[in-house]
Amino acid sequence: MIVNSVDLKNFRNISSLFLEADTGVNVIYGENAQGKTNILEAIWLTTGLKSFRMSKDAEFIKFSEETSKITLNFSDNIRKKETQLIFADKKKNIFHNGVNLKSSSELVGSFYAVIFSPDHLSLIKNGPAERRKFLDTAICQIKPSYAVSLTNFKRSLLQRNSILKDLHLNSDLYDILEQWDIQLAKYSALVVKERLNYIESLSLFSKEIYSGISEDKEKLNIKYSLTDKIDENLTVEELYNIQLRNLKNSIKEDVLNKSTTVGPHRDDIEISLNGVSARVFGSQGQQRSCALALKLGESEIVKQKTGEIPVALLDDVMSELDEKRQDFVLNRIKDRQVFLTCCDPSQVLRMCNGKTFLIKGGKLK
Ligand code: ATP
Ligand code: MG
Repeated sequence: MIVNSVDLKNFRNISSLFLEADTGVNVIYGENAQGKTNILEAIWLTTGLKSFRMSKDAEFIKFSEETSKITLNFSDNIRKKETQLIFADKKKNIFHNGVNLKSSSELVGSFYAVIFSPDHLSLIKNGPAERRKFLDTAICQIKPSYAVSLTNFKRSLLQRNSILKDLHLNSDLYDILEQWDIQLAKYSALVVKERLNYIESLSLFSKEIYSGISEDKEKLNIKYSLTDKIDENLTVEELYNIQLRNLKNSIKEDVLNKSTTVGPHRDDIEISLNGVSARVFGSQGQQRSCALALKLGESEIVKQKTGEIPVALLDDVMSELDEKRQDFVLNRIKDRQVFLTCCDPSQVLRMCNGKTFLIKGGKLK
């Protein structure tokens, strides 16, 4: 996957910017708050997935302007393509090769990228919600049908929770609860199965990458963790039976809590380094290396599943990595197109050649 050019109009602090990209490394550098991350965010949005900053569409429009436009010209293994996103007040227009699409989710699968930003440290540092979000986004990119299972799961969970809230008013609702348990168990099983499959591949790639980053000195382990200790090769049907049994067993607690206490919305990924939790015991550099290994692992899976090498968007990755770790990362991504932001380009340029772009006040210099 190769970005040929990025054209931005009134996107965040950028009034107008045209960037013709190198097929290898593109270093976007400059002082703080000039628009470096904004460029990566614009490229990322054309994947059809949500902003990694969790921003609302209206926030993309430059202050005191009415519309904002991103045009990405890119090539996959087969041909050249163009995606255009136009944001206006409460309205978004999406064009892919000139065709007006109904929603950005229709873009998923046309342009592949993997983003790594300082916020991704939260993957290691924060609670399980961040890790589930990472997992769900990553699976959606390679398997759009997963988004449907996930939506069905969330809808069933909401329904079950609203019944739990009203149970004390009407005990007839117990019968309806049973029906929702079946629905919820069905979609939970589909979600868990996909997550287990994904973690199995991710674990293989990330372990190998982390061992490279740490020069074989440290060992990374990742594991999907859920209520039961289960065999990772269970079928969807077996997972369904487990989920249904767990819902039945937790009913007393669920009624007390007025919400569902077991299921994929409570699961987590266990990340450990040399056998101890990376979240609790990892140093800043180790945690950053872990997050990077997960993201580079994600990139390998996209490559394996789609045959396309995703574009790597690396936002301020080099800070906090020592020179050896930086060299490993830069070597590892040599086979793909990279957009990398930093304040000082010299650390990156000692390893790669490519294009450099100085950005100042939202303009390329
Ligand atoms: P750093 O090195 O600190 O990460 P950066 O160059 O990556 O800096 P960006 O995150 O790209 O900086 O943001 C550049 C500027 O864009 C910020 O000052 C931010 O306040 C501004 N900005 C964000 N949204 C908008 C908007 N809708 N309109 C105008 N400016 C905005
Ligand atoms: Mg930035």
